Amino acid sequence: MNEHVIIIGGGIIGLLSGRELLARGRAVTIIDRGDLRNSASTGNAGVISPGHAPIPTPEVAAKAIRMMIDPRSPLYIPPRPSLSLLRWLLSFRRACRPAHFKMSSEVLDRFSKLSRERFEPLIDECPEALQPTGFADIALTQQGREHLDHEAERLAKSGFNVELRTGDQLRRDDDSWSDDVIGGLVQHDGIVARPDELLVHLARRFEAEGGTLRTNATVETVHRDNRRFESIELVDGERIGGDTLLVTAGIWSSELARDLDIRIPMQAAKGYHLMIEMDTPPKMASVLSEACIVVNPMGKQVRLAGTLELSGINDRMVQRRLDMLPKATSRYLPGVRDASHHSTWNGLRPCTADGLPVIGPVPQMDNAYLATGHAMMGVTLGPGTSQLIADCIDGEMLPDWAQPMHVERFH
Ligand SMILES: Cc1cc2nc3c(=O)[nH]c(=O)nc-3n(C[C@H](O)[C@H](O)[C@H](O)COP(=O)(O)OP(=O)(O)OC[C@H]3O[C@@H](n4cnc5c(N)ncnc54)[C@H](O)[C@@H]3O)c2cc1C
Repeated sequence: MNEHVIIIGGGIIGLLSGRELLARGRAVTIIDRGDLRNSASTGNAGVISPGHAPIPTPEVAAKAIRMMIDPRSPLYIPPRPSLSLLRWLLSFRRACRPAHFKMSSEVLDRFSKLSRERFEPLIDECPEALQPTGFADIALTQQGREHLDHEAERLAKSGFNVELRTGDQLRRDDDSWSDDVIGGLVQHDGIVARPDELLVHLARRFEAEGGTLRTNATVETVHRDNRRFESIELVDGERIGGDTLLVTAGIWSSELARDLDIRIPMQAAKGYHLMIEMDTPPKMASVLSEACIVVNPMGKQVRLAGTLELSGINDRMVQRRLDMLPKATSRYLPGVRDASHHSTWNGLRPCTADGLPVIGPVPQMDNAYLATGHAMMGVTLGPGTSQLIADCIDGEMLPDWAQPMHVERFH
């Protein structure tokens, strides 16, 4: 009988890892408590951005205090009495140091290149959901343009294909940009996704390739016998046994990891999206640099996605923060003022304090693994993650460059 791998979590990381493990001859069951239509993996902005910097940067450290107290800031931390948040913030502050930023950017650059290569067959498989058109970062202010100049230099040095454009050049190609836009950075390696369609496609393929998908099934407990994972137990008491466990449950992975005696400190960074319909949508997916909002045209509708709010694990919608999306976007794209609003959504990014994902075997266990903590880059790093975690399950070590992402680092 084939080794049976149980995966908890059918987001982008679980589905891609599941397919990779099937391709390597395992029997795979993915268990998800939802219907795969409402995770961070479906509602995200849909920009696959190789070379994206980690969240903790020296620049963020300089702005941290203002951000903590300003509810209009794209990164907002409403004050709340939480020891775990305080500890996380202290570690985050340390991770903003230039030496850590250099190390973590190098890891993520390498990781996103691996992932970008592995997107190629997926683009062929599902062109409706993945388009390798690139995307642009757009600046309104002098400070924003300087940031893009700096990013262009950093990305080019790391071997990414980028190009700076003036505001006039951008408007020549697309007159929906406002006269206030003064520059942009086109990232040609970028891929634009329709995340909802991508997830449906991955789930269908996973099942067609022989995987078992159990939706609307919540894992309550992970059972083990000392060093060996044995089974998972669902809320209704059903037990499902397996030879190997892989936890890819996004922000909820920390809770499940407790059953494995491992601490994975993460904070949930809530983000929102608003679907609108515009008469003249922008031609290219773009990141509005100062506002930290992504604009992704999807057929007749446009997804505005952004904000990063550390307010715990909940799905509370704060109207004021949602309203910031069209308001801030209209400074770049005046047509947004006349747009009709369709649906709203929020979801949680799983964020470690050091800005790196958590990938690899669980220490002190013989057959349990984790792949989580992808923060703002879960889609971007998904295909690379599936390779690294499947290599680990095959018995290989993480390669040297990926060592900073190992699971034991929090102990
Ligand atoms: C607004 C926003 C914009 C974003 N934009 C981008 C972007 O442009 N590009 C990019 O690369 N990334 C982006 N991200 C980040 C990206 O969406 C995440 O990093 C990624 O989706 C995380 O994937 P995941 O599979 O780890 O977790 P999730 O997508 O959260 O999936 C985890 C799954 O585990 C299931 N689960 C949890 N607990 C249990 C349990 N006990 N039993 C059974 N099932 C369980 C959940 O139901 C869920 O389906 C964005 C995120 C947000 C919120």
